[in-house]
Amino acid sequence: MLQTPVPLVPFLIDGEWLRPTHLATSPVYNPSTGEVIAAVPLAGAADADAAVRAAQAAFPGWAETPVIDRARIMFRYRSLVEEHFDEIARIISREHGKTYAESRGDLFRGLEVIEYSCGAPTLVMGDAIGNIARGVDCETLRYPLGVCVGITPFNFPAMIPLWMFPLALVTGNTFVLKPSERVPLTAVRLAELLVEAGLPKGVFNVIHGGKPSVDALLTHPLVKAVSFVGSTPIARYIHLTASSHGKRVQANGGARNYVVVMPDSDVAKTVEGVMNAAFGCAGERCMAGSSVVTVGNRAKHLMGELAAAARSLKVGRTDTEAQPDMGALITGAHRDRVLGLIESGVSSGATLMVDGRSIKVPDAPGGFFLGATVVEDVQPEMALAQEEVFGPVLNVIHTSDLEAAIAQANQSAYGNGASIFTSSGKAAREFKHRVNAGMIGVNIGVPASLAMFPFSGWNDSFFGDLHIQGREAVWFYTKQKVTTTRWIAEGVGDVWRK
Ligand code: NAD
Repeated sequence: MLQTPVPLVPFLIDGEWLRPTHLATSPVYNPSTGEVIAAVPLAGAADADAAVRAAQAAFPGWAETPVIDRARIMFRYRSLVEEHFDEIARIISREHGKTYAESRGDLFRGLEVIEYSCGAPTLVMGDAIGNIARGVDCETLRYPLGVCVGITPFNFPAMIPLWMFPLALVTGNTFVLKPSERVPLTAVRLAELLVEAGLPKGVFNVIHGGKPSVDALLTHPLVKAVSFVGSTPIARYIHLTASSHGKRVQANGGARNYVVVMPDSDVAKTVEGVMNAAFGCAGERCMAGSSVVTVGNRAKHLMGELAAAARSLKVGRTDTEAQPDMGALITGAHRDRVLGLIESGVSSGATLMVDGRSIKVPDAPGGFFLGATVVEDVQPEMALAQEEVFGPVLNVIHTSDLEAAIAQANQSAYGNGASIFTSSGKAAREFKHRVNAGMIGVNIGVPASLAMFPFSGWNDSFFGDLHIQGREAVWFYTKQKVTTTRWIAEGVGDVWRK
């Protein structure tokens, strides 16, 4: 059958947009229809090396550019992203499958990081103590590291690259971005606007690809720091490999997040919060509340409402004007993996309260759809309980008291987020203190932190020391110099009164 040629996604190296035709490619899908919409060239070591060398060549000039001027470019970038906001959100929906409203949210969270980075002159300020000893002053100044690298996952095509490069660039580093090969089009559009904002050539570079391109970046002698977001096995590998090659590393991994519902919670707000946590972005979120833990016997009432809300969710294509409540999963292979997890759970005794497996979307039969699914009686040893599902599947666990609910949340190897719905300050405080996770929600289903706070995963959800976002990110992308000064001789001339 004759294949319609699809556009080749470009690299950006040293200010040039390159479309390498000699490389193997990987398909980029529109998950709403299953169509291939672009081909992404898979970079090898030579392409990674060219991008790193361009970034290294641009580093001295960029590092010497006053921070106020670097921030001005970020202000221009902010305006350009806002101006093209709807267009970028449509690109996200088309290549990722999430709804237009979710795509706007994805980009908006990223825009907030750009806004935060516009405050760089204040963020990089050092400390000083005058007369720390007699006649001696002491000060710290922050310096950029050099070439930094960002490797990002598919699930937030705009927000996650934007977690990284605005702060890395504004603090004086140069950057190579390797976005997910499944959603490269958003990253390319964000890069085009950065060029338009006036960034000098070579300061920001983009290559695409899988393991070979990542390995070349992790081991490249000129790379100073690596920011990674993705699944736990790869995050662990990135941390080990890059740190053993002398890089500073921050690597966010996967998660399983628990939402505890106390008997005194507001039912309507709880159902709304749990539905958003479990089924927002079709569950493809590292902060997805994929396990709800009910406390006490009011659970029945809540479960009825939850099941009804899950059944009423409209699933459909997100690449047209009419928008559903939930879009498709990223690929057919991923949808089949989630289906497999549900099926293995059911065959080992889990009960399906809401079954989304046979959902049909008549106007898009080729889309990678899965309906909202709610399961009970999932045993701790089942894959459905252990693995990060990353799909629209809510696992319901019933407990008798808060103690048991906290124990449920704390048996997880991960530690991204955990939430409690309650009207009791005492219960909320107890939960906040004792739950073994880095981001806590009280009557908030998805407690993802905003730009000025660290994205603070714990345990197997994070490998490294300094988190992404907020002041920790500024510290990650800079190194400090402490200068201690004593002037011994007096100045030349007669400015001093004897
Ligand atoms: P992934 O780990 O498959 O891929 C992430 C990146 O790593 C991609 O750029 C990919 O090309 C690269 N990669 C994949 N395999 C590699 C290998 N063997 N060696 C080197 N590089 C490799 O993740 P994904 O499927 O794109 O994204 C979903 C995952 O990301 C989920 O586990 C989710 O929880 C996680 N995530 C975590 C956070 C967080 O902040 N903790 C945020 C978003 C997503």
